[in-house]
Amino acid sequence: MVKVYYDSDIDASPISKRKIAVIGYGSQGRAQALNLRDSGAEVFVGLRQSGNSWKLAENDGFQPLGIADASSKADTILVLVPDPPQPAVYKAEIEPHLRAGKTLSFSHGYNIHFREIVPPKNVDVVMVAPKSPGQRLRELYLNSFGVPALFAVYQNPSGHARELVLALCKGMGCSRAGVIETTFKDETESDLFGEQAVLVGGLMRLIIEGFETLVDAGYPPELAYYETCNEMKLIMDLVYQFGFVGMLRRVSDTAKFGGLTVGPKVIDHQVRKNMKDVLKEVQDGTFAKSWTGDRKQAAQLLDEMIDELGKHPIEKVGKDIRKLSGLEK
Ligand code: NAD
Ligand code: MG
Repeated sequence: MVKVYYDSDIDASPISKRKIAVIGYGSQGRAQALNLRDSGAEVFVGLRQSGNSWKLAENDGFQPLGIADASSKADTILVLVPDPPQPAVYKAEIEPHLRAGKTLSFSHGYNIHFREIVPPKNVDVVMVAPKSPGQRLRELYLNSFGVPALFAVYQNPSGHARELVLALCKGMGCSRAGVIETTFKDETESDLFGEQAVLVGGLMRLIIEGFETLVDAGYPPELAYYETCNEMKLIMDLVYQFGFVGMLRRVSDTAKFGGLTVGPKVIDHQVRKNMKDVLKEVQDGTFAKSWTGDRKQAAQLLDEMIDELGKHPIEKVGKDIRKLSGLEK
């Protein structure tokens, strides 16, 4: 079992000695800035002058600065613009203002791990990755609780990076729920593998293969949609709340028996082989090269793939059904 750190294990005082700049005021930026400010830290936000977040930050009582100004004024810089534009923003507006003793903090390891961003050696580099969208991070903090987080230290020339990153976790409310130490490598690779093989990629393909199998055999698409897609959420809600055995207790005996005996025939050894290949391409950088090697080309391919998926019958019947059930207008 990994060690879980709670509030009582952590000294929050390192953040009270820091000037913290939150760069970007989106999902994570807003929540982390507000939580840290409410925990007593000196926080300011650095934003694009033209961006929509400027007004939002003002409404929350911040007086936003430009990204370069905020980076220059701060000794602790939380880089919370989206991952794809991070390297360019970092190079132009953050890096010129780094000097010995400053700290960079990220909420996802991608750009550091794949060396899209290479900070100078005299700067501490850490990660606090809350395990929820920003909105929930804020909500739970206000309810005197928090969301769990992963934290990591990538480089620590000051010798104080670990105390600071733990204090950041505490200031964000995360150690009320518990925080776990990881590395940039493990966080990045497991995150990419999870979203590709299981969550976003695996889940969509599983649903689509099931839907097409039923429709190709002559079953109405509406029926196929309910049985392979709509009910996915109901089952997953049970797994989320009660675990696999708890979910099984709540479905019929026929579903239990069929699920346990037939599931392994569908997700078989070949799938495990495919997953190992996916993990290898994450680890050896093949995926990163295809995604961030040529960003323009990848963005175009992404648009094309989403357009193509939008034409799939499951999208049409899904829309009709969501309308009927009042989920979508
Ligand atoms: P977001 O898209 O919600 O917000 C990004 C902010 O950056 C906005 O204020 C936006 O206006 C600004 N921005 C966008 N493009 C910019 C550019 N080119 N130059 C300057 N500013 C720009 O982003 P997010 O989801 O909060 O992600 C921030 C970081 O947090 C990422 O590293 C992400 O991986 C990580 N993270 C996100 C979540 C999540 O649930 N959203 C969870 C954990 C970690
Ligand atoms: Mg992810």
